[in-house]
Amino acid sequence: MKLHFWGTRGSIPTPSTPAIPTHEFGGDTTCLSLAWGKDNLLVIDAGSGLRQAGLNWTQEGRRSFTFLFTHSHWDHLQGFPFFTPAFHEGIDITIYSPRLPGAHAGNLIERSLHAQQSEPFFPAGFPQLRAQITFHEIQPDHELKLASGSDSLLIWAAALSHPGGCLAYRIDGATAGQKRSFVFATDHEPPASSLSPLTQLAQETDLLISDGQYTPTEYKNRTGWGHGTPELCLREAVAARARRLLITHFDPTHSDSTLASMEKEFQKSAHSSHIPVSFARQGQTINL
Ligand SMILES: [Zn+2]
Ligand SMILES: [Zn+2]
Repeated sequence: MKLHFWGTRGSIPTPSTPAIPTHEFGGDTTCLSLAWGKDNLLVIDAGSGLRQAGLNWTQEGRRSFTFLFTHSHWDHLQGFPFFTPAFHEGIDITIYSPRLPGAHAGNLIERSLHAQQSEPFFPAGFPQLRAQITFHEIQPDHELKLASGSDSLLIWAAALSHPGGCLAYRIDGATAGQKRSFVFATDHEPPASSLSPLTQLAQETDLLISDGQYTPTEYKNRTGWGHGTPELCLREAVAARARRLLITHFDPTHSDSTLASMEKEFQKSAHSSHIPVSFARQGQTINL
């Protein structure tokens, strides 16, 4: 399995400027892709990073896409109106998204994608898309199996702590006969005094990717906003016995140099946990 980061920024796209350079860690909002099996692709979230990804996959001639959405906040959807494959006939798009407790009737992501891609927000409305698009919902603790030939992925979800709700996903697959897993847990504020369902979901995973948007000082004024710190992520990674921790969903005010020094400090403080920790970079590929 090969994981690629197309967007690592939280909250809003953050183009690089002289005041806040973001070239190294990236300015696009959340989008990842997982290449699995012979020639399959799973796309996680549709932040602004999806735009560049779509151009890339059009060049490759890819015609089939499976999406997994974590929640409906705008920084996780806003790339979809710029996903060029969706405008073409003969393209298949399958979308899996959370059915969150207390959600209104109907598919939340389907409604949200239609709403953001309609007047007065966007000129080319969702009904103008020519791709075949189908929507499915996922609930926490249900298992989803994606299969292609002799290859398959197993996906489980768990509820995260985030305003409006959000799902973490554990994805289990195999590379050259070896079982591998990773957990994607963006937009999550780990509880201070108890363990969240994420720690069960992420048990002994090869890689936990988690939301460390704030420094501990910033977090003091943003408790309850639904995001964590690298240190809170590590606490859950240790409880889950995860083998590696990667931090994502960077704050828009954090420049490359701020993130680099946060990462360095975090690596020092995480040393005794024996879990390798680092910050994700837009454009980074990880072979699992
Ligand atoms: Zn977000
Ligand atoms: Zn969110």
